[in-house]
Amino acid sequence: MEIVLKNLTKIFPSRNKKSNEEVVAVNNLDFTIPDGKLIGLLGPSGCGKSTTLYMISGLQKPSDGKIFFGSDDVTQMPSESRGVGLVFQNYALYPHLTVKQNILFPLQNLKGKDKLTKEQMLERSYDAAKLVQIDDLMDRKPSELSGGQQQRVAIARALVKMPRVLLLDEPLSNLDARLRLQTREEISRIQKETKITTVFVTHDQEEAMSISDMIVVMKSGVVQQIGKPQEVYDSPANLFVAKFLGTPPINVFDGRVEKGKVYIKDDAVMDVKGLADQEVIIGIRPEGFILDENGPLNCCLKAVEVMGRDVSIVSVNDASVNPTIRSIIDAEKKPDHDCVKVKFSIKRSKIFLFDKKSEKRIMVED
Ligand code: ADP
Ligand code: MG
Repeated sequence: MEIVLKNLTKIFPSRNKKSNEEVVAVNNLDFTIPDGKLIGLLGPSGCGKSTTLYMISGLQKPSDGKIFFGSDDVTQMPSESRGVGLVFQNYALYPHLTVKQNILFPLQNLKGKDKLTKEQMLERSYDAAKLVQIDDLMDRKPSELSGGQQQRVAIARALVKMPRVLLLDEPLSNLDARLRLQTREEISRIQKETKITTVFVTHDQEEAMSISDMIVVMKSGVVQQIGKPQEVYDSPANLFVAKFLGTPPINVFDGRVEKGKVYIKDDAVMDVKGLADQEVIIGIRPEGFILDENGPLNCCLKAVEVMGRDVSIVSVNDASVNPTIRSIIDAEKKPDHDCVKVKFSIKRSKIFLFDKKSEKRIMVED
């Protein structure tokens, strides 16, 4: 089911009686979620992800704009009629019901032509339980399950109605690191098997990058960039997106363009064609540094951290906006411990220029 958001906006009235300041939680979203795909809605806390999800689900009414499921305008349609399955961070299971009863629950209120017989309900709930691999836990209560198992029950409960759309709001945030990884693989598998159009909300860029067909990066209610995870990583539209994606994060420098060269202090790190002289913000991905004794960028070495396959070099440079620069290089090429200066050349595909004022990307010819 394709989902189309048209100029979708949500404004909350002020909570504080003294001030009239309203909160624009979601500002003019306008994009299409393709049928059968998993999209990651990504951004820092408070940027409007949940509000967007709740408007798609029908739990919240937009202040402006429209939502279409395929060609159906569902903007005014109540949540129950939309055919959405919703999963929350805290699982929200009924504690006094067994796993089986929890999963059956949404089927028991179906009316009219959707009404099912007891056998049909049981079959559906076992099918959903099998899909998330909890069919051997059907008689337990939620308190007798691990966090990961509880979240699977919540997913089964969302799937049992065979929704047209699956909406997941930070579903992995309450799980420990290992379970998070495993459950995220499970969600990806289930989505591929069922081909249900899925919106996955998270503030964790790695999570979104790893399972999404497409990511939508938001900031303060406004979409910053939409694209395949790798494309957005390789070609961020602005400084915010560049900084939000990637671990370790991108290194940011104050720099300038002068006579066809990009400078960090007095070091000319890149040639550029056709750009006017100007001050710029420079972003360099950690994997964009090459240790090179003839390289142009001079930094002072602070530490060398060996992490198995890679070496992380921590260095400093006065023009760096972050306290330290982090570069990742092959373990075989690590610098001598007693050296104090390091020189780098920079991979062209890993360096980005941004406008000093607007922080928008300045495109550079190859
Ligand atoms: P996210 O899920 O990305 O963390 P939310 O969508 O929950 O962000 O919130 C977006 C903004 O809207 C925040 O500034 C939040 O405080 C505000 N907000 C969310 N829900 C309400 C509400 N019911 N009333 C007033 N403000 C709200
Ligand atoms: Mg949220």
